[in-house]
Amino acid sequence: MRHNFGAGPCILPQEVFKQASQAVLDFKDGLSILEMSHRSPEFEGVMAETTKLVKDLLNVPSGYSVLFLQGGASMQFAMVPMNLLPEGKTAAYLETGVWANKAIKEVKFFGQANIVASSKDANFNFIPKQYSIPEDSAYFHYTSNNTIYGTELFDVPQTKVPVVCDMSSDIMSRVIDVSKFDLIYAGAQKNIGPAGLTVVIVKDEILGKSGRAIPSMLDYKVHIDGGSMYNTPPVFAIYVAMLNLNWLKSKGGVAEIEKENKAKAQALYAEIDRNTLFKGTCAVEDRSIMNVCFVMENPELEKPFAKFADENGFEGLKGHRSVGGFRASIYNALPITSVHALIDLMQEFEEKHKS
Ligand SMILES: *Cc1c(COP(=O)(O)O)cnc(C)c1O
Repeated sequence: MRHNFGAGPCILPQEVFKQASQAVLDFKDGLSILEMSHRSPEFEGVMAETTKLVKDLLNVPSGYSVLFLQGGASMQFAMVPMNLLPEGKTAAYLETGVWANKAIKEVKFFGQANIVASSKDANFNFIPKQYSIPEDSAYFHYTSNNTIYGTELFDVPQTKVPVVCDMSSDIMSRVIDVSKFDLIYAGAQKNIGPAGLTVVIVKDEILGKSGRAIPSMLDYKVHIDGGSMYNTPPVFAIYVAMLNLNWLKSKGGVAEIEKENKAKAQALYAEIDRNTLFKGTCAVEDRSIMNVCFVMENPELEKPFAKFADENGFEGLKGHRSVGGFRASIYNALPITSVHALIDLMQEFEEKHKS
């Protein structure tokens, strides 16, 4: 048995893979989901159900639209300032890692980014806490979970300006209060479904104020008016997201999966702290419940541990090159049994290499 700790595209439930493969062969009257019109009543049903699942699972209040777009979270890095930042104005950004940096990089095409705080000097191993957000900022942007560094920002920062959040790697993993946000975006391939789909949740009233002409495909309003079907949507990715969100619903929804995710994270961090060979890489209070980063006290043991993990069926444990060491991504679909198997592996390795 393989255990998939990959950071993304990531593990999805086995039953979702089975249902998805069945729909490739025969979705309706012998037709594959891949050859059906997105304007067919069947697919319109899929779109409506997926939208409702996102709304129900996250308790999205009225006044918000749920969009299914393409271009990944990376496209949102530009779409956000293009739609929300008036010419020459400033938006506040919290710099907590590579993804935040990439978001900041796109702002200059439309206005200015004001980096209100950064943990760059510490290789992003914590979340900055003491900072103020100027009230004349067009919006405040942050990354809720830093996939590469394994830090997570759990409490929405207090501010009067609109809040925009890149939730790519922790959306649907824990309960959030959507009403505290003005725009949430997430590449689907971590907790929602396959790659090729981006989910956006936007408060309608913040749109249309940039004073800028926006190309249709990059205009949130156009996608809202088109019901995410201004052009051909990523039909299959949306279908698989629907299956996965139905799986989440059947497990009791986000509140239930949050309990499981916390139990998985706690067990793994406890072992990292206990085991004499391993140590965590970031501030304890900011530890992510989705991406668990750790290194070895003796770097010479990293290669042997990586080999040992590979031989025993563990996938995707290699840390991102900017942190090194290991990263166990423990997204919703990763069963707690896989976490326990990893803990056993770490203990076995410790037995062999104890000095
Ligand atoms: C993976 C990831 C991205 C990039 O998403 P794409 O869909 O590949 O553009 C952006 N932000 C965060 C936090 C991520 O984890």
